[in-house]
Amino acid sequence: MFVPPMSMHNVRALMLTCVAQGSSPRPSFVVNGGLTGEPETTIAPRVPADVFANHSPFDGSTLSPVTATSPEDVKTLVETARTSALPWANLSIQRRVDALAGLERRLLERAEEIASLVRLEVGKPLEEAVLAEVLPNADLVRYWCDTIEELLEPARIEPDPLSYPGKSGLVSREPRGVVALITPWNYPVAIPLRTLVPALLAGNAVVWKPSEVTPRSGALTAKLFDGLLPEGVLTIVQGGAEVGRALVMSNVDSVVFTGSVPTGRAIAVACAERFLPCSLELGGKDAAIVLSDCNLERTAQGLVWGAFTNAGQNCAGIERVYVVADIAEKLIARVVAITESLSSADVGGMATRQQRDKTQAHLTAALLSGATLLTGGAEANDTLAFPPTVIRIEGASADSVAMTEETFGPLLPIQVVADEDEAIRLTNASRYALTTSLWTKRVRHAQGLAKRLRTGIVTINNHAFTAALAQAPWTGTGDTGTGVTNGPHCLASLTRPRLILTDKHQAARELWWYPYTPTLRTLAFAMAVVRGGGSIGARIAALGRLVPALLKRLFFGG
Ligand code: NAD
Repeated sequence: MFVPPMSMHNVRALMLTCVAQGSSPRPSFVVNGGLTGEPETTIAPRVPADVFANHSPFDGSTLSPVTATSPEDVKTLVETARTSALPWANLSIQRRVDALAGLERRLLERAEEIASLVRLEVGKPLEEAVLAEVLPNADLVRYWCDTIEELLEPARIEPDPLSYPGKSGLVSREPRGVVALITPWNYPVAIPLRTLVPALLAGNAVVWKPSEVTPRSGALTAKLFDGLLPEGVLTIVQGGAEVGRALVMSNVDSVVFTGSVPTGRAIAVACAERFLPCSLELGGKDAAIVLSDCNLERTAQGLVWGAFTNAGQNCAGIERVYVVADIAEKLIARVVAITESLSSADVGGMATRQQRDKTQAHLTAALLSGATLLTGGAEANDTLAFPPTVIRIEGASADSVAMTEETFGPLLPIQVVADEDEAIRLTNASRYALTTSLWTKRVRHAQGLAKRLRTGIVTINNHAFTAALAQAPWTGTGDTGTGVTNGPHCLASLTRPRLILTDKHQAARELWWYPYTPTLRTLAFAMAVVRGGGSIGARIAALGRLVPALLKRLFFGG
């Protein structure tokens, strides 16, 4: 039986209070993001009073109070970050690597503390917390420390010396300056670190706003950098949408956002107004496509994990399975059996009332439009618990929100399809396009099918775990946004190319400088023909015009 991790009576009893501080802004992340030991007296609240929950969705225990940043102070904090960014950027890359290398050990040493706090704030199982929030991040720190110098290595440009004599260039990758980072609650340590580490190593200052659902995990993550960085290079600001908006509207140089589609769209518009680069990692509606020759047991186990890990509150959670008819009944039976063997210790609880209600609404909509409940199911009630639920999609339920909109909860719809072509067509029909998995023993065949999928990531015989690979791009398309985190491609939003060209040519003027004369015109058109703009005969004739024109232009000022 699925045991609810927490009764909603506790949640209801919560008094959602937030302690806002009216004092002047302080640049250090420790101060602004710190957890306070004792509840503070509200002096002059400038943020909504219900920004932070103060009881755990896991066990109802009281959480430490959090100090909110007022939106008015964000602007000043960004200016402080800007002042700190320059000396940080001027350090050698090796010095920055030396500064951050200790982060890996800190993460590992504090694994239990991190996992326990994340569990308290969002209710995920301890195993998941350590496997998803701690261990891959240790790899991530090592990856970036090992590779950043090579990835930022300036590239030489040596143009053709006949056309461009004496010229050479160097393209460097410069930090953007101040990066605004805004993150969600579902992986409150892992997602921020994916940007914090490369952004800082690349020489940026970062002002980071964690989710208002997980401010304490945010503060603890920021604390891991304590003493490693010069003051002001990492600043954490705490609060909800209002603080996020203030951060985007402040004097930052780039915005990296992970969160929902509506918020991402609002941020994209605000950034477009000011030509600010922004990286947007938004919602998903991942499909898994199961072919008849799959490894049945591995596939069923993989689907169940992919759908229910983090209680389905995963941008890359499996939210649609398309299984071809000849294996469908066997696969469905096995998925249902494995799902029924799970307990609340495996799946954890939902983090917020909003997500629980949305999952409930998607289930109801699917059932009302023809889906069959295979296992699980939950009535609308006062708890945050939602058992892992499997439904079979039939009839009009294929067009219900459970199949078209992001659910972000432990609901696994399975639809039987005629063949792989139908599965690919339905997968590609979604407005979301983060990851898709293909389950088959024919790996070459699957690699071919992968090219027909429009999602940013395709995994063959696995799902979603590539978020843990620091070297692999995590990215989507469509309404999932075009952002990239992880891997060298993410440096595009964290750095900008700068060309420095040096000209050692000593001639008084270049060929293409003034004056524009008939000789120059003859020369230019002859050049176009010689380079391929005519037949062999025309090219030989053009060469006859080009050489005298060139000599006249170079030596007689023609
Ligand atoms: P959300 O959009 O509600 O909030 C995300 C962050 O944005 C929070 O810190 C929030 O305070 C802030 N915010 C809200 N309104 C803002 C505004 N107008 N301006 C600036 N900041 C604002 O999302 P959420 O509920 O925290 O996270 C769940 C969503 O995130 C899901 O849709 C999920 O798919 C998505 N997500 C995507 C990825 C990915 O890699 N593609 C990863 C994790 C989560």
